[in-house]
Amino acid sequence: MDFELNDEQRAFAASARAFAQAELAPHAAHWDRESIFPRETIAKAGELGFCGLYAPESAGGLQLPRLDATLVFEELAAADPSTTAFITIHNMATWMLGTWATDTVRAEWGQALTSGSQLASYCLTEPGAGSDAASLKTRAERVGSEYLINGAKAFISGAGSTDILVLMARTGDAGSGASGISAFAVPANLPGISYGKKEEKMGWNSQPTRVISFDNVRIPAHNLLGREGEGFKIAMKGLDGGRINIATCSVGAAQGALTQAQQYMHERKQFGKPIASFQALQFKLADMATELVAARQMVRLAAAKLDAGARDASTYCAMAKRFATDAGFMVCNEALQLHGGYGYIREYPLERLMRDARVHQILEGTNEIMRVIIARRMLEGDAPDMIR
Ligand SMILES: Cc1cc2nc3c(=O)[nH]c(=O)nc-3n(C[C@H](O)[C@H](O)[C@H](O)COP(=O)(O)OP(=O)(O)OC[C@H]3O[C@@H](n4cnc5c(N)ncnc54)[C@H](O)[C@@H]3O)c2cc1C
Repeated sequence: MDFELNDEQRAFAASARAFAQAELAPHAAHWDRESIFPRETIAKAGELGFCGLYAPESAGGLQLPRLDATLVFEELAAADPSTTAFITIHNMATWMLGTWATDTVRAEWGQALTSGSQLASYCLTEPGAGSDAASLKTRAERVGSEYLINGAKAFISGAGSTDILVLMARTGDAGSGASGISAFAVPANLPGISYGKKEEKMGWNSQPTRVISFDNVRIPAHNLLGREGEGFKIAMKGLDGGRINIATCSVGAAQGALTQAQQYMHERKQFGKPIASFQALQFKLADMATELVAARQMVRLAAAKLDAGARDASTYCAMAKRFATDAGFMVCNEALQLHGGYGYIREYPLERLMRDARVHQILEGTNEIMRVIIARRMLEGDAPDMIR
């Protein structure tokens, strides 16, 4: 077992760090304050392959292991968790399309999405179906060679600024549960699609979040992803990787905050000496670093399980998401505390990092739902294997 990164992985991380320093760090506070979606910068990230990191090569992606993708996302998130989180959602939706789309749809959209010139949203949540996503009501009715879509999605990241929607909708009858859900690729500008107001949020301000309504929207039948009834499985497979990605964004945000705090402790003097000399604060810093390293290793373990196709990969993805997003928020909050009043003002990045990291405990399955997934596996599955 080798915990060290190889030369190629170090090179990925270094190029992501250089991009983050040049293209994200100087602008992140402005995008946050003005709620600007930096589409051109995301396209530049696409030129480096960051918009299709693990999407299949057949769709123009780099088809990298998930572990390698985390190295890139972590470096980007240390500068700007909000923009990076959108890039990870785009990667997830692009992987889903690249993996399950028909050849026609993959040929039409694959290259555009993996290059970052076109962007994708992931549409599962509905106003009445959040944690209980399998109760979703948006319908897709087969009519001849088309599907007719009616319903609404809530909290959709990128909505109104993206080009294609990976949409989960019900093709079975009302009581069909998860097995009655199918996934579709829906061009975002079709007649009958309308977008709600941009939600005003605590963080994640560099990406829009909106409700999307579908009123008799027609798509060709070949825009179905996989087969009818496979949509919930496809959505959950997307989220396994998505949870690693969001966990990684928390690790990155925490690393960004910790680095700031380390520097600041040497610069800031109180009682005639640097605050770095106070043992209470040294202990705080030590705990932050320990939690951060534990979170990073757990995320990489979950990514390695997913890469290996391990049976318990989904459980590890849930554990990594729960642990890293809780730890990441804690580290950001403690780093803010170490800055005293300066941590609370916008001139410093701490309050932004903390606000951006907070939502990671809520989305892509709340941390309560992560515990539901883990406990179910422990009590119903072959738990001893998992926890050994
Ligand atoms: C900024 C933002 C961006 C988002 N982006 C997207 C996106 O791009 N695509 C998308 O599809 N969705 C997106 N979401 C939606 C997100 O995934 C949901 O908000 C999340 O799954 C929770 O659903 P909910 O908000 O309806 O909360 P609810 O499900 O109503 O939960 C309310 C509370 O009850 C708890 N709870 C619910 N059920 C249980 C249970 N069985 N046991 C214990 N506790 C439980 C929850 O943990 C939570 O604390 C986004 C959300 C936000 C805030």
